[in-house]
Amino acid sequence: MPEGIHPQFQLNILSRSDHSLSRRQISDAALKVLYRLNQAGYRACLVGGGVRDVLLGKQPKDFDVSTSATPEQVKALFKNCQLIGRRFRLAHIRYGREVIEVATFRSHEPESPKTELNDEGRILRDNTFGSIEQDALRRDFTVNALYYDINDYSVLDYADGIQDLQNKTLKLIGDPATRYKEDPVRMLRAVRFAAKLNFTIEQRAAEAIFEYGYLLRDIPSARLYDEVLKIFHSGYALRAYELLRHYQLFQYLFPALDLHLQSEPAEAMLDFIEQALVNTDLRIAEDKPVSPAFFFAALLWPLVHQKAIQLQSEKLGTLPALISAGNEIFCEQIKTISVPRRFSQIAKNIWSMQPRFCNTNGKQPLRLLHHPNFRAAYDFFCIQSMVGLTTHQLCEWWTQFQIDTPVEPAARPIGHRPRRHRKPRQSQNKAE
Ligand code: ATP
Ligand code: MG
Repeated sequence: MPEGIHPQFQLNILSRSDHSLSRRQISDAALKVLYRLNQAGYRACLVGGGVRDVLLGKQPKDFDVSTSATPEQVKALFKNCQLIGRRFRLAHIRYGREVIEVATFRSHEPESPKTELNDEGRILRDNTFGSIEQDALRRDFTVNALYYDINDYSVLDYADGIQDLQNKTLKLIGDPATRYKEDPVRMLRAVRFAAKLNFTIEQRAAEAIFEYGYLLRDIPSARLYDEVLKIFHSGYALRAYELLRHYQLFQYLFPALDLHLQSEPAEAMLDFIEQALVNTDLRIAEDKPVSPAFFFAALLWPLVHQKAIQLQSEKLGTLPALISAGNEIFCEQIKTISVPRRFSQIAKNIWSMQPRFCNTNGKQPLRLLHHPNFRAAYDFFCIQSMVGLTTHQLCEWWTQFQIDTPVEPAARPIGHRPRRHRKPRQSQNKAE
């Protein structure tokens, strides 16, 4: 048994009649993958969030499959399969917009020559195949180590996950320090699941977050970008934000903002961030799209606003000050979280459009209305009005203006005549 893994776990099998998970709750695509692997003679189980969430009566975000087939064997079975991943090789099987992630059972063997660790104990590469038992014990939390076996429809509980599911507890498998050192992102995952599932992080795992949070400094900015979006676009952004701050992890994601928040910032700006996160959660609950651009624009606004005011006091005009402040704040932020340029550009547009909402005269409002990022900038402006950073009347004026302005045929910028034989332009990343 490798270091850090508890030897006391015993397999608990819940037969088909002993659990609430049924095939109706699993997507057709996931079922197809499971059945085809099984028919080809491989062991095939649903694992992770797909089992956990269904047992909790929630709709899973995606379905992950774990199998005895190697990535190459999986590829040979599915035409629509792509092998990906450096840290571990995975198969992605695509059905339309749905992707089923298929991973081969792997073992957790820090000593194995196939496992590359850095000096801190972080796993850089880990491709040792193993048994299903070993696969269960290398997973992060006990509630994430539940398997639904397509062969007999039983649920396999290798790490007392069912008990923790009932107690609403997130328990790391093994020694928290070792597990966080192997992969510090597990601390962010703890917060994400605690927020999403409304679970408590078990005491040992919680305490170790305060001690090892600093290890997140070593995580590549691209991975942090992915994780941050998973955290804040899970439908529980406000709770996650509060937990990240509670566990002192926020500083490793948004260092400048964290410092600012500790320096007695304007109450309205704190309210603004919270209101933006509430709105994000509401949009997700209503199945409306959310955009990374809007999220970063909202979160970094206190910094950009403060910097722009400072630049204005140094005699820069309102717009140049906002542009310059936006560039500077993003330049710092992307050192930690690599926000793709297409999103940072929209965030900058949202900021620099804000003063234009104060002008309701002449042709300016119509021009603003036709800006490709108008809708996101308007939502942003309305949140400002909700927390007293601008007036309600202005926000209402713009709401009415959109109702009063026919969308067709004047839905193109004033003074801009479309060229013939050209398709109408569509904004790619609609931030609404
Ligand atoms: P959701 O899909 O809702 O975000 P999930 O639990 O399915 O939650 P995924 O990121 O899809 O999370 O990963 C699938 C499973 O893979 C997890 O449940 C867990 O068992 C395992 N896993 C993922 N990331 C890690 C990690 N960093 N360390 C250990 N196990 C992990
Ligand atoms: Mg998943």
